[in-house]
Amino acid sequence: MSETVSIAISDLVRDNIKRLQPFSSARSEYKGAAHIMLDANEMPEDNGHNRYPDPTHAELRALLADQQGTAIERIVLGNGSDELIDMIMRTFGRPGVDVVRYIRPTFGMYGVYADVNDLAKETVDLDADFDLDVDQVLHNQTSHNKLLFLCSPNNPTGNLLSADRIQQVLQGWKGIVVMDEAYIEFAERESLITQLDAYPHLIVLQTFSKAKGAAGLRIGAAYASQEICSYLLKVKPPYNISVHSQQRAMEILSRPDHLQQIADTLVSERKKMAQALAQVAGIEKIYPSDANFILMRCTDHSGLYAHLVGRGIVIRDRSKLMGCERCLRVTVGTLAENQALITSVNEYYA
Ligand code: PMP
Repeated sequence: MSETVSIAISDLVRDNIKRLQPFSSARSEYKGAAHIMLDANEMPEDNGHNRYPDPTHAELRALLADQQGTAIERIVLGNGSDELIDMIMRTFGRPGVDVVRYIRPTFGMYGVYADVNDLAKETVDLDADFDLDVDQVLHNQTSHNKLLFLCSPNNPTGNLLSADRIQQVLQGWKGIVVMDEAYIEFAERESLITQLDAYPHLIVLQTFSKAKGAAGLRIGAAYASQEICSYLLKVKPPYNISVHSQQRAMEILSRPDHLQQIADTLVSERKKMAQALAQVAGIEKIYPSDANFILMRCTDHSGLYAHLVGRGIVIRDRSKLMGCERCLRVTVGTLAENQALITSVNEYYA
């Protein structure tokens, strides 16, 4: 059982955000029953999207809270988790002053949004197994180290970070820890959402873009203490998720068995694909994956990449990232797509 960490969140929040008077719509303020809506300068003709969406995402958050066994006050929704990454940086990071620390290699947007928000970047290399080096992660923290981003299962490596090392980092980090769980549904690991009580400085990010099959809807979820959520909600653009996206997300969540089934199929396809690729002479290594993609190290990766493009298959060249020399990342697709990939890879090395 983890010890409870004691951190004053308000000391980490930017002063201007603490002072901020957020935008408030008349509709959110008015709790009674109204049937004449003349407050928001919308077009009156009902076409299914003439009204602004619910800025509080109340129904969707209530359903997520129910399914995740948490409270609605502990959920903030973003236009994809990308928007949440940006919102988190703007809530805690003082431009030109504070620092974002994150692992390497990992998802590129932590660095991009640090740059956008003029926050300094500190990277900590993963070890040879792409796992956390706890001492390095916790090394040399100052009051400017407001934010630490971790990603598990990690992109582009595919592996889960060790649970015990994550716990050590959560115990030792004095700022906000963001754990990006974009791929958690493909892994055999419980979400850290269950540990929010023990770690008031933890923010867990999940997304509708991967296992929920809805990258086009643009919905991400941040789970955190009520206090952190109250600050993020101040920063959130009021109408950040469209009417249609909120409706479709409710429909998606109403079919949990179907979601489980498509995730299970994907994982079994991933295993088959990994086995098939491992047989190919030119593939030097298939990295273990807990996600919906496979990282592979290849001889002549550029030649293989170009060959696949010539066959109309686009994968991701990750060879320039630290520790990923000659590595390509392949998303697990449909049965037919995976077969086409395997055929073309074999063809190249034949
Ligand atoms: N986090 C990770 C680790 C990702 O790989 C991605 C997308 N590739 C995202 C976040 C962004 O997700 P979203 O579509 O919710 O913005």
